[in-house]
Amino acid sequence: MPDKLDYKSTLSLPRTSFSMKASLAQKEPEFLKKWEATGLYAKILEKRKGGPKFVLHDGPPYANGRIHLGTALNKILKDFIVKSKTMEGYSAPYLPGWDCHGLPIEIKVDQLLGEKKKDLGIIAFREECEKYALKFIAIQRQEFRRLGVFGEWDAPYLTMSPEYEGDVLRCLAAFVRSGNVYKGLRPVHWCPHCQTALAEAEIEYRDRTSPSIYVKFPLISDLTGKFPALRGRKIFILIWTTTPWTLPANLAIAFHPEHEYAAFTAGEEVFIAAKRLLPIIAEELRLDEPRILAEFPGRELEGLKARHPWIDRQSLLVLADYVTLEDGTGAVHTAPGHGHEDYLTGLAYHLDIYTPVDGEGRFIPQVERYGGMNVFAANPVITADMKKDGSLLKEGQISHSYPHCWRCKNPVIFRATSQWFISMDKNGLRRRALDEIKRVRWIPPWGEERIANMMTARPDWCISRQRKWGVPIPAFECRDCGAILASEEITLHVAEIFSREGSNAWYNRSPEELLPAGTKCSQCGGQRLEKESNILDVWFESGASHAVLGKRSDLPWPADIYIEGTDQYRGWFNSSLIVGLGAKSGSPYRTCITHGFVLDEQGRAMSKSLGNFIEPEEIISRHGAEILRLWVAMLNYKEDARFGNEILERLVDAYRKVRNTWRFMLGNLYDFCPDSERMKGEDLLLLDRWILNRTAAVGKRILKAYGEFEYHIVFHSLFSFFTVDLSAFYLDILKDRLYCSAKGSGLRKSAQTALFEILKSTLVLMAPILPFTAEEAWECLPAFAGKEESVHLEFFPSFEEKWLDPETEEEMRRLIDLREAVLKELEKAREEKRIGNSLEAEVRLLLPADKRDLAEKYREELSSLFIVSSVLIDPEDASELRVEVGRAPGGKCPRCWNYSPEVGSGRDFPELCPRCEDVVRAMKNV
Ligand SMILES: [Zn+2]
Ligand SMILES: [Zn+2]
Ligand SMILES: [Zn+2]
Repeated sequence: MPDKLDYKSTLSLPRTSFSMKASLAQKEPEFLKKWEATGLYAKILEKRKGGPKFVLHDGPPYANGRIHLGTALNKILKDFIVKSKTMEGYSAPYLPGWDCHGLPIEIKVDQLLGEKKKDLGIIAFREECEKYALKFIAIQRQEFRRLGVFGEWDAPYLTMSPEYEGDVLRCLAAFVRSGNVYKGLRPVHWCPHCQTALAEAEIEYRDRTSPSIYVKFPLISDLTGKFPALRGRKIFILIWTTTPWTLPANLAIAFHPEHEYAAFTAGEEVFIAAKRLLPIIAEELRLDEPRILAEFPGRELEGLKARHPWIDRQSLLVLADYVTLEDGTGAVHTAPGHGHEDYLTGLAYHLDIYTPVDGEGRFIPQVERYGGMNVFAANPVITADMKKDGSLLKEGQISHSYPHCWRCKNPVIFRATSQWFISMDKNGLRRRALDEIKRVRWIPPWGEERIANMMTARPDWCISRQRKWGVPIPAFECRDCGAILASEEITLHVAEIFSREGSNAWYNRSPEELLPAGTKCSQCGGQRLEKESNILDVWFESGASHAVLGKRSDLPWPADIYIEGTDQYRGWFNSSLIVGLGAKSGSPYRTCITHGFVLDEQGRAMSKSLGNFIEPEEIISRHGAEILRLWVAMLNYKEDARFGNEILERLVDAYRKVRNTWRFMLGNLYDFCPDSERMKGEDLLLLDRWILNRTAAVGKRILKAYGEFEYHIVFHSLFSFFTVDLSAFYLDILKDRLYCSAKGSGLRKSAQTALFEILKSTLVLMAPILPFTAEEAWECLPAFAGKEESVHLEFFPSFEEKWLDPETEEEMRRLIDLREAVLKELEKAREEKRIGNSLEAEVRLLLPADKRDLAEKYREELSSLFIVSSVLIDPEDASELRVEVGRAPGGKCPRCWNYSPEVGSGRDFPELCPRCEDVVRAMKNV
């Protein structure tokens, strides 16, 4: 008899260098270094060369500030797409880019320079802007890489690079050629503070209190011929406005041609306004029983004239379909220089596009009474004056949604200026854009309506800005006759110069040096030409970013995917589509995906002032980038994304669960050589075939979810597989077989074969989501023929192997149901302290006839399936399933803790159960 053995040493307990503690914050940077040193990204591209192509085109983030959770969310989603497409077998390079020009940097540099700015020439100022952009590109690049995002970080596209600037002008040249570009006086949103025109996308609507006033305009024309009842009366047109400061620019009053208007008494006077609004007007103006003297449709008034309340000028009565009876008087004060619809009416009636307001928002000196005054400051002065002279009938206030500048947050004004535009309707540009929108796939689908509505409503695109940091508009003005020179030839000529020297050339070179040799004014033949001083709207620049595609065989035009936040329907998706149509005759993207914004746990926007702002850096340095990636994978990104401490805890728990499940599998493969020991499918134990069958089903669901960009389904599928199928079932049952069976036995090799397959395929499946952890585990995975040095070089598995016939699969499903019933009874017995560990139990099954065959067929598997020491099947048919739990007979085997009546009866190791005695005997060569 040998001495009492330390049986623990005879067990095959798990061992692995894949630690329980993740230490992601320390390990992730090491992986990044390693990937960099081994040139992993280049290897991935090389490996997929010749494969089908997939292009995700990066929407360039703006090169100022550090990244926040929203930018992280965006980049991680892009990385999910690129990595998963790569593992599907596509050649999917990721070329990141940055949006470098524009007002925010200009403002920042202005502030930084302070007084010094005065001495700087324009080139020196632009160089400061460039330095500023480069600084933040370097910072953001480092932060994006830290997230585990793979891409061509060493050669991104920059909108301020000479090559890119040349491309922007080449895109513009196509619009010039088609005649869609024009220069014209037109009201645009104008920020008096920033002193620039603003694009639609640069406007924020916020509540603002404005004056609300009723004003009367005396009618000059005679109506008494048509309406004798008005004879001898003083007649006034009644208007309502919230912008008294636009009254000095009033040139007309608009009426709806079809609506009914009424001339009604107001004391001694007669007012004209929409009939339907009369009750409201009467109340507002406290009119004493107004009497209607005449009624007529608006069209009766066309061409008549009123007089401006205080300026010696006529105001024309005109018709317009946009006049509504929702508020006001139905008679709309019209200043063609200060509103979009007013402008259109002005064009229709050949009115002057009169704009007596300068770039700083002050009335020009010629304006009677108010010259030099700021328009908003003028509001109360104008109303006070009108009150004095009696033309103001009522003064109140209104809180309404009003456009503000997104940069400086100040209210903006509508002001006609001389600007460059892209006509939306010339050559059917808008119609073609709407057609193209129908061909694009929108995720989520409501995006289609959103962008179509914006495309339908958008005015001509104002593409000029009165700033310095951007791409100059390559046009010239003749000093002799004032003619504008802008042609495809000139644009392309300047594009060539910009491609070589960058857009500073515009300021370095003389007009002669920028123009094709011998260029003369097309009107007067003069050669004294002056450079345009405006730059292009940066949205045109970023909208031209698809010009970086089509230059390399692995980055063809158009892109398969554009993915950005929902604000880009009116921003980048919109401008890219228009530039794509102008320059390439089509949409630059086939599929357009949007994601929501990041909110805190209560659903509030994150802001530094609310104190709920979380920096990605905070999470990464404490928990690792993997946790942020997991956050993105677990949320439905199409909705707004919440983040906070509770969510963080859940993420850390979920991560731990995944990590430990992988760790358990790795730990039980330390002695497994896949190439020589992997068992064939038909030789595997039923349970192992079953779990591989489940793995394949889950794997297919995950692949489908990747194909549909549904990453929360990817992760939740894996997570429930890990918790429900693996942890709570398969791995739990497997422990006895793995730990206690003889090392080289078929029992153990069958289990290891299954574990190896599950581990390998789930690592590959999760590599796009958890690139660091999957790689770490991959390195610990036993070597096998064809194993790539990095998990990121692998292809997704296809899950085509058949592991179970449908009949057996159904039987397993029923066995699992039976197990559920048994576990419930075991739990009860444990609660009643009749047993401790489930191995102390003997289960007696009383079975109805329809369950008997199944139980008999799998009689041998039942005790391991239930993790009990013995299972008895009652010979009598029962009316329904009953489970009785008693104490297992016999002694406890000190090696495997199973109870057996045979413990104590062995020859060599009598204290062991027969199975363990066999194993130990073989090990000790007894
Ligand atoms: Zn502003
Ligand atoms: Zn000329
Ligand atoms: Zn045993």
